[in-house]
Amino acid sequence: MKTVIIAGGQGTRIASVNSEIPKAMIPICGKPIIEHEVEMAKRQGFTDFLFIIGYLGDQIEAYFGDGSRFGVHIDYFHETQPLGTAGALGLLRDQLTEDFFVFYGDTIMDIDMQRMVDYHKAKQADATLFLHPNDHPYDSDLVDLDAEGRIRAFYHKPHPEGFVAHNIVNAALFIFAPSVLEHIELGVKCHIEKHVLPRCMEAGKALYGYVTAEYIKDMGTPERYYSVSEDVEKGKVARLNACHKRPAIFLDRDGVINKEVNLLNKEEQMELIPGAAEAIRLINKSDYLAIVVTNQPVIARNLCTFEELDRIHMKMETLLGQEHAYINALYFCPHHPDSGYPEERKEYKIKCDCRKPAPGMLLRAAEEWNIDMAKSYMIGDSDRDVQAGINAGVKPILIETNKENALLDAVKELMDESGKWKAERL
Ligand SMILES: [Zn+2]
Repeated sequence: MKTVIIAGGQGTRIASVNSEIPKAMIPICGKPIIEHEVEMAKRQGFTDFLFIIGYLGDQIEAYFGDGSRFGVHIDYFHETQPLGTAGALGLLRDQLTEDFFVFYGDTIMDIDMQRMVDYHKAKQADATLFLHPNDHPYDSDLVDLDAEGRIRAFYHKPHPEGFVAHNIVNAALFIFAPSVLEHIELGVKCHIEKHVLPRCMEAGKALYGYVTAEYIKDMGTPERYYSVSEDVEKGKVARLNACHKRPAIFLDRDGVINKEVNLLNKEEQMELIPGAAEAIRLINKSDYLAIVVTNQPVIARNLCTFEELDRIHMKMETLLGQEHAYINALYFCPHHPDSGYPEERKEYKIKCDCRKPAPGMLLRAAEEWNIDMAKSYMIGDSDRDVQAGINAGVKPILIETNKENALLDAVKELMDESGKWKAERL
């Protein structure tokens, strides 16, 4: 499978180098960014590259040549005029006859590429977008997914007041099938996000979102240069690759994150408990994943539909996002074991393996997120949560229902006085 790296675009000046260089050649820990990308892909057996270069691209070609010095093969496409992020792809139809990766050349990351390929294939997608939540969704372009991960809509910033959505953001890395290239006009400047993806949507192509917690950042501002360099140096970038197990903090929803209301079934009832967003923000800054596991018998009791429950979760993610916090995933159990009420939905009135205290949701998350359960926690406000944690093999923590800062205190309890996580190497 080919990897296309888009490395055209503007040059940049940085203090350590005395002349203008392409962004892709900015050295991070002694190596150009694009070389980090090549090494990452090569390590995973992806050795066939196509670099799209433009202004100052000669420097890239002089450095990499045909790639043999790096143990890979590199072809080049020279843009004679700037064609945007996608224009050149349209001219490469003859070379891109199978599914291919698209990277930007100024991105620092370490991702499990095969895992994304497997997802793309399982979904039979025309395009798979690499997505993640971020800490400022209110001023980010957002992507809306259905329960199967298929993209329903793109919401571009600025968002209208009172806008409610899942916190899922495009991180600008893709797998495309050749059919995507049909939606690029030849020789015309155009962009992947702005033009190509919306056209694919309109044409009914299967666009899927691959949501992960792996490290990916583009080289935007100078401040970012230092923080990214530090993350590479300290091994954080490599450590967050999904091939490595990560610990998680599982969180109950009602009474822990949001105020418990008896059988919450309306978006307006979703209100955060003070301190909850700050607690989740602390989790986000650590290596722990923040994963919500919640019993929602409101479905079985027919008090709300799946769509309404989804809106309630959008509201929660929106409120958390306003305070720069996000969850990595949410699992809910729609079932309830006691049947016999006239209004209920019979198909969900069953004894399942996901309703807490059963460990089903936690075990499914462990599988899907490669979680190190021995280092993980379950924070909840009921015996059911505690027992679910024990059943799943994580350490349970019981907090008081609806109590201000209870979640925050519980999370802080996992840290020492200097704010370092007590668990080893976190
Ligand atoms: Zn269930």
